[in-house]
Amino acid sequence: EQASNSVLYLDGVSVSFDGFKALNSLSLVLKPGEMRAIIGPNGAGKTTMMDVITGKTRPDEGEIYFDGAVDLTRLDEADIAELGIGRKFQKPTVFESQTVLDNLELALKTPRGPFATLFHRSSAQERARIDTLLEQIRLTGRRDELAANLSHGQKQWLEIGMLLAQDPKLMLVDEPAAGMTDAETAETATMLKEINKTRSVVVVEHDMTFVRDLGVKVTVLHEGSVLAEGALDHVSADPRVVEVYLGR
Ligand code: ADP
Repeated sequence: EQASNSVLYLDGVSVSFDGFKALNSLSLVLKPGEMRAIIGPNGAGKTTMMDVITGKTRPDEGEIYFDGAVDLTRLDEADIAELGIGRKFQKPTVFESQTVLDNLELALKTPRGPFATLFHRSSAQERARIDTLLEQIRLTGRRDELAANLSHGQKQWLEIGMLLAQDPKLMLVDEPAAGMTDAETAETATMLKEINKTRSVVVVEHDMTFVRDLGVKVTVLHEGSVLAEGALDHVSADPRVVEVYLGR
């Protein structure tokens, strides 16, 4: 079965709010190690899709499986996070009055779930892990800076680092490039490609330059289901996709 060969498998997922179908029989398959970009106009269902995967919203219909055989529709948000699905929301929520280092230490000490507390890292291991994280998020030179003094883009990176500290198998990232400079946007694409070497990633993004930089398969959502899927050049040449974007 296809679900058993996927890190994430959605089939026929529907969600209604007061009779309005925010998701309408949505299907999506992510292979282990894959990174996927999700695009689509406002109201297409991108946020609701992230919400049903993370257990924030329960689907009315359909199947959602993680890591082959784990039925996510039966689990709550905390259980799903513990299984290794990490989500980065659009707005960074770092601790502004703490340093970059403090933020990462805090994230490392925050268990993903009750079993994570069984691991006792030595301080040497923890320092090595933090050094690696700082390099991954391009903040090695700013480790002792207060988070409040970082640029908006750097705060996004710090939050990505805090998520990485939890070592999720699947990372869901909501509009990471929003509000970033062009240079930060390009760096973020490179960063996510590096991160994707060790885990699966789903990125919701509006910035087409960024999506192009990622160079991964794109899924276009519209009215709660998949309108088109494939390489960015392929889907952006699809007349239905053009109509959905230009028709608004
Ligand atoms: P996107 O993230 O692609 O912009 P959303 O998933 O936020 O789309 O929304 C899809 C549709 O569902 C929108 O029309 C939105 O108004 C509606 N919607 C989302 N969440 C709720 C909710 N909690 N209650 C009512 N309607 C909602």
